[in-house]
Parts: sequence; C-alpha cells; structure tokens
Amino acid sequence: MTGADANKREECALVASINSIQGYWTEQFERSGVKYQAAPTKFFRGAVNTACGGATSDVGPFYCPADADVYIDLDFFKELKTRFGAQGGSFVEAYVLAHEYGHHVQNLLGINSKVNPRQTGPTSGAVRLELQADCYAGVWANHATTVPTPSGKPLIQEISDDDIRRAVDAAGRIGDDYIQAKLGGGHVDESKFTHGSSAQREKWFTTGLRTGNPNACNTFDPKVSLG
Ligand SMILES: [Zn+2]
Repeated sequence: MTGADANKREECALVASINSIQGYWTEQFERSGVKYQAAPTKFFRGAVNTACGGATSDVGPFYCPADADVYIDLDFFKELKTRFGAQGGSFVEAYVLAHEYGHHVQNLLGINSKVNPRQTGPTSGAVRLELQADCYAGVWANHATTVPTPSGKPLIQEISDDDIRRAVDAAGRIGDDYIQAKLGGGHVDESKFTHGSSAQREKWFTTGLRTGNPNACNTFDPKVSLG
C-alpha cells in the first residue's frame, strides 16, 4: 500500500465515522420530532479562522457553537498515531469526532446556554457539558458497535478497555476549554479551568456506551453524582 492509499483509507474512515455519528443523531432527533441540522466538519492544519476567533494547532479539535462547525486539527490526529500507533489511534479518532458532535447536539438542544463560562470548578456547567459530550460519544459508540451498516456488519467491531483509556487520555488534550474561555469574553482565568477528571470522563463515556440512551447522559441533573 502506498502512502497516498493509506491517507485515502484514513480519510474514508473519518468520513464513515462522521456519517455514522450524524446519521445516528438525525434518527434520535426525528424520534422526538425535532430536525437535526447537520454540521460540517472542517479539517485544518496549522491555524484556522472561525466565528469563535482564530485557533492554532495547540488547541486541537474543537466545536464552535457560533458557526456550528466541527474543527478537526489533522496534526492532532497525526500526533495520536505517534502516541498510540495506527491501530490504537483509530477508535480514538472516532471518539474525538463523536465528542465534538456531542457538543453540536448540545448546541442544537440549547444546553450550552445553561453554562456560565466564567464559572469554574469540579461541578461547574463547563465540566457538566464536557462529561455529557463524553456520554454522547459513548451513546454513539453503542450504536456503532451494535447496529449493522449496509455492509451487514457494525461500523466498529469491538471497543476494548484499552480503547476507552486511550480515548479518555486524548480527551484531556482537546481544546474545547480554550474555545469556551474565549466565548466568555476573555475574562476567564484559563489556569483555573477544570476539566472533568479522567475517572469522570471514563465513567460518563461508559454510561453512554452501556445504555445507548442519550437520556442517561443527565450530567446537568443537580442530584446526579458526576463521579
Ligand atoms: Zn468537549
């Protein structure tokens, strides 16, 4: 296989994941009588201009609510390959895409507006938003491993515990917080910005994966234990 073939195969895998993720949410929205508006995925290297401001590769993949586009930094994916190897990287890429589309779903459902970007800390809205996006990624992963594609087989054959650990590791390095901080008008002390912990992210991804039910992703319920 040539390098060009490998790149092509890789792109096809990304497109297959994106189509599966948006196909899944289209069906879910239809069930509740709401139209899902598809979000384009914009791939970039180096730097990109968005309605949320300019971003560089330091930011990694992110979702911009203002233009409703998912921005995927291809250098970040390349780094994942270096870190995890081609095999280990493929589910992680799918997870990152599903997490970012989870933010798009939150935007369509108006969940973003529950978040005060100036609030930080372990039970802040920003953390609840991240954990819910992880859970939504898990819900899609349930779908992708159980529902056959037209080929007759599910898109993803199996998700191992290692896959989940790698995905959570990658999740800690994606750039949503940066964008949320920018949306807050620059008044956020980024050093105080709290991600969910790895254990929390794993818990919520797994909740989505086990249940396959977006309603189980109730991270904004004040009575729920975030983990
Ligand atoms: Zn996020």
